[in-house]
Amino acid sequence: MAEEDHAVVIGGSMAGLLAARALADRFKRVTVVERDQAPARQPAFRRGVPHSRHVHIFWHRGLRALETLLPGACAELLESGARILDAPADVAWHGPFGRFPRIRAARFLSSSRELIDAVVRRRVAAHPGVRLWYGREVVGLHAEHDGRSVRGVEVRNRGAGGGHAGEPLEAGFVIDATGRGSRASEWLRGAGCAVPGKIRYESHFGYASRYYSPPEDIESEWNGLYIQASSQDPHAGAIMPIDGGRWIATLGGVANHAPPSDEDSFLEFARNLGSPAMYEALVCATPLSTPVGFRNMANERYDYSRRARWPAGFAVVGDALCCFNPVYGQGLTTAALSAVELSRVVRAGGPRERRRLSRAIQRAVAAPTAVPWLIATGEDLRYPTTEGPRARFDTKMRQRYVAHVAAAATVDPVVTRAYFRVLAMEERPGALLSPRLLRRVLLPGQQAVERTSSADRDDFCAVAHNRDGA
Ligand SMILES: Cc1cc2nc3c(=O)[nH]c(=O)nc-3n(C[C@H](O)[C@H](O)[C@H](O)COP(=O)(O)OP(=O)(O)OC[C@H]3O[C@@H](n4cnc5c(N)ncnc54)[C@H](O)[C@@H]3O)c2cc1C
Repeated sequence: MAEEDHAVVIGGSMAGLLAARALADRFKRVTVVERDQAPARQPAFRRGVPHSRHVHIFWHRGLRALETLLPGACAELLESGARILDAPADVAWHGPFGRFPRIRAARFLSSSRELIDAVVRRRVAAHPGVRLWYGREVVGLHAEHDGRSVRGVEVRNRGAGGGHAGEPLEAGFVIDATGRGSRASEWLRGAGCAVPGKIRYESHFGYASRYYSPPEDIESEWNGLYIQASSQDPHAGAIMPIDGGRWIATLGGVANHAPPSDEDSFLEFARNLGSPAMYEALVCATPLSTPVGFRNMANERYDYSRRARWPAGFAVVGDALCCFNPVYGQGLTTAALSAVELSRVVRAGGPRERRRLSRAIQRAVAAPTAVPWLIATGEDLRYPTTEGPRARFDTKMRQRYVAHVAAAATVDPVVTRAYFRVLAMEERPGALLSPRLLRRVLLPGQQAVERTSSADRDDFCAVAHNRDGA
């Protein structure tokens, strides 16, 4: 079979698997090259996805995208013990200005990350033409013409050691989905292609997580619990119900407030959160694992889609393209939305010429990253310790307005709903600037927050003109 009919995806986690499913609509063969050994059929931890041991929520918008690509996946997840929760109705959600009212605003799937991966992996592997190739590591791109065209990858056995060169695996199209550790920019630069630098905002957020068996006689008014960090109190905590009748408990903190991962200090950290609810729940629960920590959580983005000379036959997706501080729960949903965009381009036939096709794909997969990037970086920039380009005037205005929205959302259910629907990526941020919302958030006499100065109001109206672009 001609190499033009063959696509290679590097990395077999969420973004790679869903990209492979999308590519199978155009390419007769799709090979996913994954450096980990083949995982068990049942949900299980694997080395390449160490973040799976921390809380993972999957917003409903992302689930709908997943279902478009893999019909029946959501039903299988629910049959296997995942839960659908409605925030903040089912989740005792404590924001920086107090607890949000218990109204139905934004649904999400609560599950172990291992279960989500196992269901997606089985379904993608069963798709005609897709082959998952485990225990193989990609060590470079097979690039030609000064990096202007990619014709495949160099692959070697995972255990082969550094001295072993890779074997070529030819392909008409290559997608990099190797996550935060992606070496795509290095490979392209090595091939002679000019690539943009990385934009990085690092708030030094850290997690520590542990599985628990909930108390048998639990009679709680919540199914999930979330205590948000803020610039006033940079400590966070969450308990979510997952498959196997377990809880996953994740603690979070910014910079030197990051949670410890030793057993004794884990509960102590929970005790000092802004609400006692997490500690009170955990002291009655039975730990099923020791705590594990995670630190590498910066927001990072490459603006590949603006490259004038992007190589033919290549694209970058998922965390390798753009990753967010996971505290906002956006990575899985964005990966699924990007895969739907990829599918749309390839199903439509896409440009026949390889370079134009690559550019169309790179632009399409980057589009769903814009809003989550705005949210994650805008929120992280509230912490004085965050490193990265300084907040611009419009970002500061947005932060001030969103703080008013968050405060109003604790007392006015209309604002609560709007706020959560933006957080869940169901609505664009511009929805928070509709005249109806602006009135509820800013005007005195409504159920919203404290009076806002007329200067503030003028600033916000200026931002309103800029809507989603603000
Ligand atoms: C602590 C934490 C918590 C998170 N919580 C949430 C959440 O609540 N909700 C949410 O939506 N998102 C969350 N995310 C984000 C989400 O996990 C990622 O966006 C998601 O995993 C998509 O990642 P990916 O497939 O792009 O990369 P990854 O999951 O990092 O996978 C990369 C894959 O590539 C493989 N690989 C790497 N290099 C090579 C190579 N050279 N050759 C072959 N294979 C290679 C790796 O083994 C791995 O399988 C969280 C992330 C972290 C870190």
